[in-house]
Amino acid sequence: MNIILLGPPGSGKGTQAALLSGKLRTPHISTGDILRAAKGTELGNRAAEYMNRGELVPDSVLIEMIRDRLSQADCAKAFILDGYPRTIPQADALVDILAGLDRRLDLVLNIEVPDAELITRLSARRVCKCGATYHLIFNPPEKEGVCDRCGKRLYHRDDDKEESIKNRLSVYKKQTQPLIDYYRNLGLLAAIDGSGSIEQISGEIYSVVKARPE
Ligand code: AMP
Repeated sequence: MNIILLGPPGSGKGTQAALLSGKLRTPHISTGDILRAAKGTELGNRAAEYMNRGELVPDSVLIEMIRDRLSQADCAKAFILDGYPRTIPQADALVDILAGLDRRLDLVLNIEVPDAELITRLSARRVCKCGATYHLIFNPPEKEGVCDRCGKRLYHRDDDKEESIKNRLSVYKKQTQPLIDYYRNLGLLAAIDGSGSIEQISGEIYSVVKARPE
């Protein structure tokens, strides 16, 4: 299945995409992770300027990145996109990219969480380079500041600091929210209540995916 996870920053789409990827054995493609991993390269340094301000990286960069990634062999049967598309031009480009590969989208899961909860979640989020994510209050690591999974030091993403969070949420409303209607009109959208526990949400997502004919 070819799936998109849509949702505001802090909705848990990265966590849920990783869990779903494990259950379905399908590649998890996070454009944020790809951009962060490019740190130190020309692309990564250019992207970081936008990311640190809470702005979107230009469409042309993301479209080429996704074109390249989806053409790789591990995506030949299925993929889970996390963080792409974030604008209508990116969604339109995805249609072309998939048509070129003789593929189509199957499902768009939209994770819904109230704004006030998003701000609390993001400001207390700590992450590890290995992809693990923690919350200082609701999901703290066993040893303060250290990843349970790999033992590396956790860090506070620059774009999880207050000014950037506010900007990211307003950018989301302006540029990404219109994708909800876009995919609803195509009959691809399924709404997921993102305010429960990680396990509850993951269970709901899995049952929606399984109920969908392939
Ligand atoms: P994320 O890890 O998904 O929260 O993404 C972190 C940041 O990476 C975003 O705030 C953007 O600056 C950038 N980014 C990730 N994906 C995209 C995209 N599809 N379009 C534009 N910018 C993106």
